[in-house]
Amino acid sequence: MPQLPLWIPPLLNVILGRDPRRRRHVLFVLATGQLYAVSLAVTLQSASLGLLDAALAQSLVAASFAVFVMVYALVRTGWSARLTDPVLTFPHALACVALCMAAYLALGSQRGNVMILVAQTIVAAMFRLRPQQVLLLGCASVLMLALAVTGLHHHDPQRYTAAIGWLHLTVGGATILLLSLIAKWVADIRVRIGRQARELQDALSTVQQLATTDMLTGLMNRRMMGDILEREIRLSHRHGTPLCVALVDLDHFKQVNDRHGHAVGDAVLQQLADTARKEIRQVDQMARWGGEEFLLMLPNVTAIEAGVALERLRCAVRRMSVADRPSLQISISAGLAQLLPDETLDGLIERADDALYAAKHAGRDRWVASGGAQRDSSPSHESPMVMDLRSVARLQGDGA
Ligand code: GH3
Ligand code: MG
Ligand code: MG
Repeated sequence: MPQLPLWIPPLLNVILGRDPRRRRHVLFVLATGQLYAVSLAVTLQSASLGLLDAALAQSLVAASFAVFVMVYALVRTGWSARLTDPVLTFPHALACVALCMAAYLALGSQRGNVMILVAQTIVAAMFRLRPQQVLLLGCASVLMLALAVTGLHHHDPQRYTAAIGWLHLTVGGATILLLSLIAKWVADIRVRIGRQARELQDALSTVQQLATTDMLTGLMNRRMMGDILEREIRLSHRHGTPLCVALVDLDHFKQVNDRHGHAVGDAVLQQLADTARKEIRQVDQMARWGGEEFLLMLPNVTAIEAGVALERLRCAVRRMSVADRPSLQISISAGLAQLLPDETLDGLIERADDALYAAKHAGRDRWVASGGAQRDSSPSHESPMVMDLRSVARLQGDGA
């Protein structure tokens, strides 16, 4: 694309403003300048041909200029931004039709041309006005035409006879009304399409949410977490940064359901999700992996640091109290794995699952790190390790 001369962008900033929304509004107003240019040309041409009195021509040009500059100023300064229609389409179109009627009064035998300008005004406005406003604009235009015709007849009944007046009013009024009806129809379609587009957008957001979120807990679902993990694993391999995952499973959850009912079981799942949201870092992500199993992803931390986070979560879950069930004691077991060089997602999850299995076997309410995850810092640990805070502290001491 050719480079714009340096002075153009600042000039555009002055004319249109910097705010993109404001710029669009100002541009729309400036586009209506084309109608003013046509009227100006017609007015000056008529004056030069002697069809229009010079003083009248000057007044028409001055009034048009004043309307255009006022609308531009109101939109450009942002005064109109608080209104439903910040482009001021309706009052602007009404003012334009009034100007057209003034030209109709002044133009003598050329006045028929003015109807084309009225038609153009209605057509330009129909893309922004509400359907009722389009109809109102049409009716107001016919009313103004009727006033102009009556005024002309009273002013000069010899040259502007009642028959001519009726002819103008019938042909002009019918044309304007027909055009307004067509414009309303277009505005109706525009409104309907806009509403359908919004409904479609809402439906799309709902579908997207359903496809990526677990409805019970509000956490992301397994599919979404799978995608995120694939990306994080690629990044981790490329940059050599650590990445940990932990499979977190509620202990004896079947008993919770059996003793307290499914609804309480659901409440426990929700509460676990809330607790996790509070306890984990913002960069860590938790997903509902299935049933009463969750997957916690901890980027940029080693298994040792991830262990500290898991321990914090384990303790927070122990402290959790479920509404109306003070006797209900919840605990979790977790299997932790740190990504190995060249390891795939399946391999990583499999090791976390093995570690979770080990945690369950070791008595639950604890977390176990997969032996493989420790290879970097301690190559001798091939089997899963049962850990508590003391072992974490020991490992941190070893690592230091
Ligand atoms: P363990 O300590 O070995 O994990 O035992 P557990 O009872 O937690 O595991 P088990 O696999 O035997 O039972 C899991 C239970 O989780 C069974 C199932 O009804 C319950 N569950 C799974 N999804 C939901 C859910 O969305 N809501 C409720 N209330 N229960 C669920
Ligand atoms: Mg369980
Ligand atoms: Mg389970």
